[in-house]
Amino acid sequence: MRPQSLTPLFAQVTALPGIGPRLGKLVEKLAGPLVVDLLWHLPFAVIDRRNAPDVAGAKAGEVATLTVVVDEHLVPHSPRQPYRVWCSDETGRLCLTYFNGREDYLRKLLPPGETRVVSGKVEIYQGEVQMTHPDHVVPLEQRETVLRVEPVYGLTAGLTQRPVQKAIAAAVERAPELPEWQDAAYLARQRWQSWHSALARAHAPAEESDLSPIHPARARLAFDELLASQLAIALVRHHNRTLAGHATEGDGRLRKAVLASLPFDLTASQKTAVEEIATDMSKAERMIRLLQGDVGSGKTLVALLAMLICAEAGAQAALMAPTELLARQHHATIAPLAAAAGVRLALLTGRDGQKQKKETLQGLSDGTIHLVVGTHALVQEDVEFADLALAVVDEQHRFGVHQRMALSSKGYAVDLLVMTATPIPRTLMLAAYGDLDVSKLTEKPAGRQPIDTRTIPLERIGEVAQGVGRQIATGARVYWVCPLIEESEEIDLANVEERFRLLSERFPGKVGLLHGRLKSAEREATMAAFADGRLSILVATTVIEVGVDVSAATVMVIEHAERFGLAQLHQLRGRVGRGSAKSTCLLLYAQPLGETAKARLAIMRETEDGFRIAEEDLRLRGAGELLGTRQSGLPDMRLADLAAHGELLQAARDDARLVIDRDPDLQSERGKALRALLYMFRRDDAVRTLRAG
Ligand code: ADP
Ligand code: MG
Repeated sequence: MRPQSLTPLFAQVTALPGIGPRLGKLVEKLAGPLVVDLLWHLPFAVIDRRNAPDVAGAKAGEVATLTVVVDEHLVPHSPRQPYRVWCSDETGRLCLTYFNGREDYLRKLLPPGETRVVSGKVEIYQGEVQMTHPDHVVPLEQRETVLRVEPVYGLTAGLTQRPVQKAIAAAVERAPELPEWQDAAYLARQRWQSWHSALARAHAPAEESDLSPIHPARARLAFDELLASQLAIALVRHHNRTLAGHATEGDGRLRKAVLASLPFDLTASQKTAVEEIATDMSKAERMIRLLQGDVGSGKTLVALLAMLICAEAGAQAALMAPTELLARQHHATIAPLAAAAGVRLALLTGRDGQKQKKETLQGLSDGTIHLVVGTHALVQEDVEFADLALAVVDEQHRFGVHQRMALSSKGYAVDLLVMTATPIPRTLMLAAYGDLDVSKLTEKPAGRQPIDTRTIPLERIGEVAQGVGRQIATGARVYWVCPLIEESEEIDLANVEERFRLLSERFPGKVGLLHGRLKSAEREATMAAFADGRLSILVATTVIEVGVDVSAATVMVIEHAERFGLAQLHQLRGRVGRGSAKSTCLLLYAQPLGETAKARLAIMRETEDGFRIAEEDLRLRGAGELLGTRQSGLPDMRLADLAAHGELLQAARDDARLVIDRDPDLQSERGKALRALLYMFRRDDAVRTLRAG
């Protein structure tokens, strides 16, 4: 049950003064449906209205609060002319200008002969002091309410500043004093105020610097949000851990057979990852582990070794990939290795023929198929496993959290290994998953050379094509990527097709085309021709971003590189440099380059370190965009800014862990206060995992 004290905050926004049904809809769009949502809508700017000169002393361009007597209304003859109200003090005249001003309204607001306090931006027009649509016009008694530093809030179409300010002030007014949920020692060390004071302070900035995310009031609120989220994740996980899982232990014989068939050794981090996974799987608790590693770092092999543990133990493992292409590719990589170990492996996608599908489903349900690779077809209802012990999910941010769970729910307490080629910055990982176990592949397999990355203006595309010609003459394989922008798929396809046509004219018979609209048989034929060298150039959209693996490819050309995000550029570049030969990446850009695009391309030239690139990406873009927020399971942060509050996030993680250790049912004084915190941030789901009481 939500604590009584929070009830006023969980009323609809229309409960606030000045917010009727019409404004209520807009406010809901802006911040959310409830009063508590408005609390999290912090000001993004301040206007200092304390500058109160006389009229003669008012300077153009500054915000001033002037006290004047209303002299005369000049009603325009035509609606195209502005409505003017002349006012004055002892030092001079002030003209208030209104476009489309309504006479009855303005006469009431500014009655001739009366004193009014007006505040707004001063203009000097044809020698006269003027104010166009002043922000405030109030009687003298209300002068003090205007003479202050005013918070400025983000708006949405149809809303103006005043009602939003008023509604938020009223929401803050409603906020109750609550028992402190933060650790007393930590709070003292940070010198933070109580939640209630911090909230009031954050909505009453006194100067520009109060808007900084590291201002104590904002930092405290951000920490509260992070703590709520970390605690919620930790509670749910704690709850799940207490449900016993599979203990899967293999004898190593299949793994040994596969390793013996490989022409190379595992890298040190591959070895460590396999050990970590094996240890987790051997425990009765459920494994939830992320396998994180840059493109080409050899995750697939690690996944296979983990899957073989299941086969050794007589159980089953499934690997789910986000696309048909990737699933087929994983299957192709794994098939010879599974064969070497004598393990039965199947492929399951939406495109299987009836007969084959039936066979696969049969094998999975009777347990004769130990390993399966597939697309989301794996989570369809008709798929049953005899004994699924491990679910491996590749490229997790492309799946909804639900699909991931759907695969694990095909068995009882299935161990989960999530692979991602997108290095997720530590801060984001923590925010999205809390204290998730992570295995990292930090080195590339031996013998890889650094990729030579260059940025080239698009105008020089002719030279680039020439260079590509020289390269393919020596047998090189080249990717040529054209951007896809979802809103205009038709135009984009036309672009790729046009590029394909032009390059085909130049290099007849050597060029292939790959995009998402092609039939899968066509795509596969093209891929195969490129892989075995019948085609030298593959013109493609970003369908090759993920996973396509032709280790002989050494040149990557990306057209309009400025339109791609950093993570995407990094993924694309990772398609080359996968063999021992020297590789090149050419980033063609259209001028003029924006600041962010310029920074992105510079980082690409500078480094190949995916983790560094991910951190930079976070810095340049902000967290939400990075992972496609909802999909990734990344919580929607209203107060915390992961780029600015990374340290607070770590502290919140540590704190949450401590709470779970000491008071997992949140029964202590502090525990009860923390329940209120969870409710306030709508983590009721986590509260529900607590034992009643
Ligand atoms: P990722 O999935 O991490 O992008 P892959 O698993 O596709 O990387 O591996 C990329 C390539 O490197 C594959 O051709 C794979 O066979 C090869 N590979 C994997 N591990 C090693 C290793 N330890 N040494 C050499 N090559 C390796
Ligand atoms: Mg891979």
